[in-house]
Formats: sequence, C-alpha cells, structure tokens
Amino acid sequence: MKALVKAKPEPGLWMQDVPVPSIGINDVLIKVEMTGICGTDLHIHSWDAWAQKTIKVPLVVGHEFVGRVAEVGSNVKDFSPGDIVGGEGHVVCGRCRNCMAGRRVLCKDTQGIGVNRPGAFAEYVALPVTNVWYHDQSLPREVQAAFDPLGNAVHTTLTFPVLGEDVLITGAGPIGLMAVAVARHAGARHVVVSDVNPYRLDLARRMGATRAVDARTERLDDVQKQLGMKEGFDVGLEMSGNRAAFQEMLRAMCHGGRIALLGIPEKEMAIDWSLVIFNMLTIKGIYGREMFETWYQMTVLLQSGVDIRPALTHTFPAAEYEKAFEVLRGGQCGKVLLDWR
Ligand code: NAD
Ligand code: ZN
Repeated sequence: MKALVKAKPEPGLWMQDVPVPSIGINDVLIKVEMTGICGTDLHIHSWDAWAQKTIKVPLVVGHEFVGRVAEVGSNVKDFSPGDIVGGEGHVVCGRCRNCMAGRRVLCKDTQGIGVNRPGAFAEYVALPVTNVWYHDQSLPREVQAAFDPLGNAVHTTLTFPVLGEDVLITGAGPIGLMAVAVARHAGARHVVVSDVNPYRLDLARRMGATRAVDARTERLDDVQKQLGMKEGFDVGLEMSGNRAAFQEMLRAMCHGGRIALLGIPEKEMAIDWSLVIFNMLTIKGIYGREMFETWYQMTVLLQSGVDIRPALTHTFPAAEYEKAFEVLRGGQCGKVLLDWR
C-alpha cells in the first residue's frame, strides 16, 4: 500500500510502498478515506528536537483519520466491512491502575498511532477494536475526519461548565476554532478569541465568536470593557501553546476562574504564580480525548447543530501532501485534510 513514511532521521516525509498492516484477532483493518494534518505531523516532518527524541524511523505517520472497515479479527463481532469508522489514536495499556479503573484517558503508557506505532497516513491502518469508533454514518466525511482535533476542542471546552459564562480562548488554530462553536452551543455568554493571525481571526468570527481579538494590537482589558464585563473571564481555554497568550489569560481571569490548558508550550514556561494564588485560579491540563465520552459528546453536538465546517478550509489529494504541509505551515488555513480515495 501507499503510505507517508518518516523513512530517514532528517527533515521530510516520503510516500512509499509498505506492507498492509497485519491484524490480530481483536483488531480492525481500516481502509483510510480522509486524514487531517496536525501540528504533531509538522514537527515530525521538520524533524525538530521533540521529533528526534520521540520518533523511531521508519514509521508511517498520521493519527487523524476516517475510513471504512476492510477486515475484522476473528474475535470482533460488532463491526462489519464497509462501516464508516474513526479511531481513538491513543492506544492504552489496559493494565495500569487508571486503565483498570476505566479511566483510560489517564493511562500511564499511552501509545499514539503515527507517533509510537504505525499511523493513518496510508491506504490502511490497523487498530484494536477497543479504539474503533462507529461514526454517525450520515455526517459529512470531512467532519468525521476531524474527530480527533474536534475531540481535543470538546474535551477542553466541556471540562468546566460554560453555561452563561464568559469564555476566553487563546489561539484560533483548528482546535481553538472548533472550541468557539462548542462553547457557543454549550451556552456561553461571551466567547472571546485571541490570535495573532488575521486569517484565523476571521474564521473565529465565522465560528460564532463574540469578539476575535488581535493580540498584537488589542488589549483584553479594553475588550472586556466594551463587552460590559464587570469581572474577568470565568473560563479560559488555552489553545495556543504561546507563553504571552497564557500570561495574558492569567491576568484576564476572574477570581476563582478556571483554565483548561491544551496548548503545548515549546519549552518550560514561567508564569506569575501570584495571579494563580491570589485569584484562586484552577488550572487543569488536558490531553487527548476521554474514551469514549468525548466521542459520544462530539457526535451528539454535531447532531444537535454544531457546525465545524468553516474550520475545515483545505483538502488536498494525498499525493499532494507536500503542498498540504506547506499550506498548514503558512497558517493561512484552518484544518488541512488529505483525501486518500
Ligand atoms: P495551531 O498551532 O494551529 O494553533 C495555535 C494558534 O495560536 C495559532 O493560530 C497561532 O497564531 C496562535 N497564537 C500564537 N501566538 C499567540 C498569542 N500571543 N495569542 C493568541 N494566539 C496566539 O494549533 P492547533 O492544532 O489548533 O492546536 C492548538 C494547541 O493545542 C497547540 O499548542 C497544540 O500543540 C496543542 N495540542 C494539544 C493536544 C493535547 O492533547 N494536549 C492535542 C492536540 C494539540
Ligand atoms: Zn494504562
């Protein structure tokens, strides 16, 4: 099969012929239809320090995907060839304390497809049946392809109650954009989004943001006054991984405010801890999606009117992957998808 392979320990990705993955009795083989490119894939492509210490070459990369069941192992009873499925890319150990307690999101030994085991930028990907998600078959294929990042957005946004609250989202990347729609749908009063990229700020407005703030030229203080906010933001969703953005957020929170931290800083990040202490802030780290409550929530949110399609801006045939990576790197885009059909 054709697959995008990190074949050599140097910048680049290579479309190569590799064997179709073999499956065990509890596995599902999926014929990939569409995939999404994530920041992680950019890191692997450019072979930065994180990629060098994490990725063992050769590796088929990619973890955001939708496809159809091609073949099931002999123990698998509840999926049939042709079903449209997605998959949770975090394969958990099943044996650690948290896994045994049913808290799979907290597994201590998570293996990521396209990072620690063969990924989805390929004609076929294999997954344990416990990781396969049966999609609402009627959802648009590109929306199904975005379940992994949408799950990050849903998990983060619904971590703290947002009904009637004022929500600040720092970073209008694909995940921040989807979080806007989710926070709106979940009943937030104001959803203020900051970024430094005008193209993405425009998308944030289209996703339903009350205000899209250019962090280079506008101050959150002023925005809060314009909106008639008497106190700070109740809920913060950090989705940029940028230190300045996080520091701004800490200053803009109300006393007792709650922050869900998804964005991954490039390196260690100093903050003014006195803001956390005197304002009694709660900060919670978010990793991945809850298995499978977040997947359930995504499905019902989409069925009840959340529309993430404005955030899915580009689709390229898989063969044009270099162009697709280029577009994502340029930032004049929301989610960038590859079509493998
Ligand atoms: P992205 O890199 O496309 O988006 C980040 C956005 O932040 C960009 O649009 C950028 O312009 C913006 N930004 C930069 N400086 C800013 C500033 N000072 N103020 C406001 N915005 C600023 O990423 P994404 O794919 O949308 O993912 C969002 C973040 O979540 C990334 O940091 C990513 O690494 C992280 N992530 C975490 C998990 C997890 O499980 N914790 C999973 C996926 C992604
Ligand atoms: Zn575990």
